[in-house]
Amino acid sequence: MWWDARRAHRQGLEEIRHRQTARLVELVAYARQHSAFYRDRYQGLPEHIDDVTSLPVTNKRELMAHFDEVATDPAVTLAGVQEFVADPARIGGRFAGKYLVATTAGTTGSRGIFVLDDRYWAVTSGLMGILAAKWLSWRDVLRLVRRGARFAEVVATGGHFLSVAASTRERREKPRRHRSLGVFSVHTPLPRLVAQLNGFGPALLGGYASVLRLLATEQQAGRLQVHPVLVLSTAEGLPPDERDRLERAFGAVVREVYGCTESGYSAYGCALGWLHLLEDWVIVEPVDADHRPVPPGTVSSTVLITNLANRVQPIIRYDVGDRILVRPDPCPCGDPAPAIRVQGRASDVLTFPAADGSGVVTVPPLALGTVVDRTPGVELFQIVQTGPTGLSVRLLPDTGADPERVRAGAREGIAAVLTELGLAHVTVESAPEPPEQTTGGKYRTVIPLPTRAPSS
Ligand SMILES: [Zn+2]
Repeated sequence: MWWDARRAHRQGLEEIRHRQTARLVELVAYARQHSAFYRDRYQGLPEHIDDVTSLPVTNKRELMAHFDEVATDPAVTLAGVQEFVADPARIGGRFAGKYLVATTAGTTGSRGIFVLDDRYWAVTSGLMGILAAKWLSWRDVLRLVRRGARFAEVVATGGHFLSVAASTRERREKPRRHRSLGVFSVHTPLPRLVAQLNGFGPALLGGYASVLRLLATEQQAGRLQVHPVLVLSTAEGLPPDERDRLERAFGAVVREVYGCTESGYSAYGCALGWLHLLEDWVIVEPVDADHRPVPPGTVSSTVLITNLANRVQPIIRYDVGDRILVRPDPCPCGDPAPAIRVQGRASDVLTFPAADGSGVVTVPPLALGTVVDRTPGVELFQIVQTGPTGLSVRLLPDTGADPERVRAGAREGIAAVLTELGLAHVTVESAPEPPEQTTGGKYRTVIPLPTRAPSS
């Protein structure tokens, strides 16, 4: 996979797109043959399809509602997968003896459960090798290798989220990776997380942008003392000035990757802070509200993605809800791949006064969001900061779930994390209203208190 991708990237954009089309033709044929859902959807369409725009659009809600028919392997059923994800002991295990299972937070309207095959994983790992070669000089690569490629990932744990499921499996199945792969929980109080990272000494540091921003502040203050070669920001947008700050703080190359569980890696950051599309194994279509393509230079209403790697649960023209802008001119960094910016992905950090009044405690948004996301019976949620020490949870329970029990479960989950972070004085209540959408149709999972203008 890696050699093939490397060859394609050396030959240029045209070769990558040639492979992309060939992979689409294969994926559509496979989905029609093995998935009742897609067979039905694509009825009446020409037999040979090499243009993704001729296919109907789908979304998370639809794929979850038709879970069993979408799957191309009869062993994959919603009932079976739900039972699997209900058990934290099975995080990173193989469902039906084969598949990685990942759940996603409800940022686009509903929660998702995704089944990923070995192809998906081989592609993801292969592409990471390609990206490292794009980002790092040979000197950096040498430094990385010399330090045993020790990789610290700060991720949401306790649920079947992709990063933790993948790294748990990696450590379980490749014992030699065990020592060089450190998984750290985003739910850890910052001082303890800092101590853990100091002890681990990562050559590679990966995490959500909001967590990396907190860690950069710790590094600048001298409490965190790590010397990574590469810092990798995922899941949230990283504003350009913050990227510069991170580079200064860590003395490392700082890069972003853009993608989601459903798509795999879709774009990679360049030195100028643009994200370049990684078109080998995914098709990214910026479209308007009617799913028509939007021209470069215009912000899209949403993005449709097609994952060309995963076969067990085909993701074809799937609405992910992100709004992106494609740069109309070539990126000055020299990379010919289309360059994009993702709008509104920068997540705010929650800030609370410490219990003893000695300053503030900052909490990355995903630390709380992921706790609610793994609460059984939650369809959709939103955590709103209502005061300096008050949070309110807007919640839409699954049909069939007991709403009061789900609400209590979510409140208890958040309270437990807050207590762990020394924030037991922060109150958590249930809001009567449901989660509210932004004008872009997205659900922000965590909404901090608006920053007040400094008083004079
Ligand atoms: Zn660029």
